[in-house]
Amino acid sequence: MGLKIYNTLNRKKEDFKTVFDKKVRMYVCGPTVYNFISIGNARPIIVFDMVRNYLEHIGYKVEIVQNITDIEDKIINKANEEGVDFNTITDRYIKAFLEDLETLGIKNFSAMPKASEMIPEIIAIISKIIDNGYAYVSGGDVYFDVAKFPGYGKLSGRKLDEMQAQESCVFSKKNNADFALWKSSKPGEPSWASPWGNGRPGWHIECSAMSIKYLGYTLDIHGGGIDLIFPHHENEIAQSEAAFGQNGNFVKYWMHNGMVEVKDEKMSKSKGLKDDWILKNLLKKYPSDVIKMYMLSTHYRSPLEFSGEKLEEAKKALEKIISFLRNVYFLTHIEVALPGNEEKKYPEGDIAAINYNMDIEPDRFSVKIYDHIKYFKEEFKSAMDDDFNSAKAIGVLFDFISNINAIIQNSRFKINMSISESLKITMDLVLDHSRIFGFELKSQLTGFSGSGKVRKNGTIYLEDAEILELIEKRLHARKHKDFNRADQIRDELKSYGITLEDRKEGTIWKRDN
Ligand SMILES: [Zn+2]
Repeated sequence: MGLKIYNTLNRKKEDFKTVFDKKVRMYVCGPTVYNFISIGNARPIIVFDMVRNYLEHIGYKVEIVQNITDIEDKIINKANEEGVDFNTITDRYIKAFLEDLETLGIKNFSAMPKASEMIPEIIAIISKIIDNGYAYVSGGDVYFDVAKFPGYGKLSGRKLDEMQAQESCVFSKKNNADFALWKSSKPGEPSWASPWGNGRPGWHIECSAMSIKYLGYTLDIHGGGIDLIFPHHENEIAQSEAAFGQNGNFVKYWMHNGMVEVKDEKMSKSKGLKDDWILKNLLKKYPSDVIKMYMLSTHYRSPLEFSGEKLEEAKKALEKIISFLRNVYFLTHIEVALPGNEEKKYPEGDIAAINYNMDIEPDRFSVKIYDHIKYFKEEFKSAMDDDFNSAKAIGVLFDFISNINAIIQNSRFKINMSISESLKITMDLVLDHSRIFGFELKSQLTGFSGSGKVRKNGTIYLEDAEILELIEKRLHARKHKDFNRADQIRDELKSYGITLEDRKEGTIWKRDN
């Protein structure tokens, strides 16, 4: 079974087939830059980054374009409120938005065009729509004539009659449901010259102009929040298909993420944001991986509850993965830490520092580990293939972790070469699959080994062999019930920045950061 995507257009899950083989061209609507972005605005960014990562994981080459809306009434209002130029507002919030993306570790867009940089393309597409008979000029405005476009309403499922019946006070329009492609400018507003006089583009047209410019006609995936289905995406379809769509649809798969909700309240930038809804503030409290874990633990189409508790849960969940990876790292690190140690003879009756043996035949534990690996890969894939069910896939990851933990904690478990090998594969697998959710966990595992003779804090750097020697001395002392001496060695190692952990399979050490 391959990947299936829920297509808003047809309201069902469909087999994913790209226009071009192994290549995905994807467009996602970005923010309007008149404020800091909220946790609600962050959802499509994180969701579609996960979609992109998974598509790449299964072998697609992905191009993703996200726009920045820098011409819009809300921006003009904000500039008037503050008594500043409208560029002052857009510059400030574009900078803030790019910083947020950087902190989130999401920056691989093929293009991130701004509406203000697309005026010639926007004028060209509006002219084409007029030439094709789907738009009309009224005063200095240009409107899309929805009655001329038979498919209007196909994405949102709305009927034209109902839309026409809405109240409207714009007398320059033929029909209530007609929407502006170009608006004549009022004094003090940003404006550009056009064949219809000075003015500025309507909001919807920029996405039609940008997607054709950067990705071409018939996109594989178009994404955005569910709140954009109507009117924004309905209008994008009308514009693009009126201009270029004689031979097919503007988009193959329409994907929409659910809203972030605060106890039944819709989070909306235009209604004013509370401080702790602002992504920038949240990123000061939580690492970006925690925010991603919180978001992706719910299926992207479901509403997502926003609360401090949910974020704390996500933090704990992530810590569970990190602590598992560290354990596995320690266990596989033993081999590295014992160069040539296999020849070392321990005094009779003494506990070896580490119960390390050189068996190369797979034993029952490593066979079990490989079984879990196989099962994990299959289950993970089937969850993600089912319309990117990251919530289920994260569950599969936790099941895998507890299964491997159960093996490690088995009283008969001992590290040997074949187990070490299977644990290395386990670690790489968890790291690799975590990357689909945007987690960068590898950096959290390193930093255990120092790099100089004197550590940054001025303490002496010990070589691995010196550490192991001290560990052996400590175990010897414990064996002879000389606990004072054992504690002394532990403290001594601590002063060198080495922490010990006693386990069934032996003593494990790590360097403090
Ligand atoms: Zn858009």
